[in-house]
Amino acid sequence: MIVGWIVLLVGLLTVSVVVVALIRTAIAKSKHNKFFESKNLPKITVDREVAKVHLAEAIACKTIGGRDWAMVDTGEFTRFRNVLRDAYPLIHSKLTVRQISADNLVFVWEGSDTHAEPVLFCAHQDVVPAVEEQWTHSPFGKDISDGYVWGRGSFDMKGQLIAMLEAVEQSLKEGVIIQRSLWIALGCDEEIRGENGAKIIAQTLFDEHRRFAFVFDEGGAVAKGFFSMLTQPVAVVGMAEKSYADVRLTYRGHGGHSSTPEHPTPVARLARAIHRIEQKRRPARFIAPIKAMMHSLALESPLPIATVLYNPNLFKPLIVSLFSKNSTMNALIRDTLAATMVHGSDAPNVIGAVATANINIRMLCDTQLEELIDWMKRVMKDEQIEVAVASSSPASKATDSKHPNIEPFFCAIRETFSDAVVCPYIMTGGSDGLWYEQVSDCVVRFSPFVMDKNELGRMHANDERLSIDNLAKGIEFYRRLIVRL
Ligand SMILES: [Zn+2]
Repeated sequence: MIVGWIVLLVGLLTVSVVVVALIRTAIAKSKHNKFFESKNLPKITVDREVAKVHLAEAIACKTIGGRDWAMVDTGEFTRFRNVLRDAYPLIHSKLTVRQISADNLVFVWEGSDTHAEPVLFCAHQDVVPAVEEQWTHSPFGKDISDGYVWGRGSFDMKGQLIAMLEAVEQSLKEGVIIQRSLWIALGCDEEIRGENGAKIIAQTLFDEHRRFAFVFDEGGAVAKGFFSMLTQPVAVVGMAEKSYADVRLTYRGHGGHSSTPEHPTPVARLARAIHRIEQKRRPARFIAPIKAMMHSLALESPLPIATVLYNPNLFKPLIVSLFSKNSTMNALIRDTLAATMVHGSDAPNVIGAVATANINIRMLCDTQLEELIDWMKRVMKDEQIEVAVASSSPASKATDSKHPNIEPFFCAIRETFSDAVVCPYIMTGGSDGLWYEQVSDCVVRFSPFVMDKNELGRMHANDERLSIDNLAKGIEFYRRLIVRL
């Protein structure tokens, strides 16, 4: 009898909590301004023909970086700077141009208010290599066809760099006056973590005691088809990025001839440990940018889904199980670990005595690497496996998604992509933005292009491209942002 009453009470309590969550969500949705008023916006004209040629010229420069900068063909970076000088005469005559160390470029456009904090737009000049034979279109061949500019870096990120400079050049031509000064930083080696590029620029700015109202770097795009609960595209803006570490696992055992093997071999022993790490996922956590993301998505979703997303703590088990099914969503709520390089022997018939593996780790902002390594040791259950950190990046600080300085940025997104839901998130990859966190407490990561899975899949892969429509949208976005500075 008492058990029955308890069950009834718990049931009533659960129903009441869900009803309260429903009402709370319904009120938030009713207050939410669903449609952006875009009809009174000034029209922006974009010269697509000129912009696409400038982008093709930029792509033709093989600005491929390298960890040892002495080995890099810096002539290609000089060529790239010459392309920019020819394409953007007003930027090079009206703005202050600084070359910070060999291949980094900084421009400064003075605003009318010398007391206002300036803003900083970033882009990187370098690209990852391309295996020419695997491409249908030439990766460095100035190929413009079928409505696209093709080539390495067209999307990541010469397209964005060119969109930015086109917008600045056109704004200068039209006599636009900005209130805050605009700094532009073009680093030379983002693809290899920015040690020779953004790190040096950011340190120089820090040493000069400069602070920026906001810093804007590459990041999330206007994503189409990623969020099944929504029909409209979602503009995801990175408020933070996951930090990065490489951890080396080593097992020292007995080698020998593979015709008389002793089991388990060192590779098998290591494989067992890796398997345990992959089986046991890190605990799920909703950090601030992800809670903000769920709130933004909730306001645009049908009420049942909205109720779940708007009350993430209440429905945590349900959300975790849904997110865990998809590798992209899973990476937003957990630290991830992946074995990337495993080495066991130098010959097909030799069992090596030492087996090694690299575990590539991407951590949420508040994860401590030491704690994660302790967790790995516990999960592997093998004290004979040595664990050593090979490299790690500093943890990213999350920008507050309600930071007052972001407003012009969000407005420019809504004005340019009027059908998109704007939502914060954490970037699972890295960017130069990380280095600039020391000169601003408001760093946002966004690429103003509409992207689906097919387009995104070409990044760092074969036949990378950017549609001319996207290039034009990017220019429009920067122009709308510039007039708000
Ligand atoms: Zn990039």
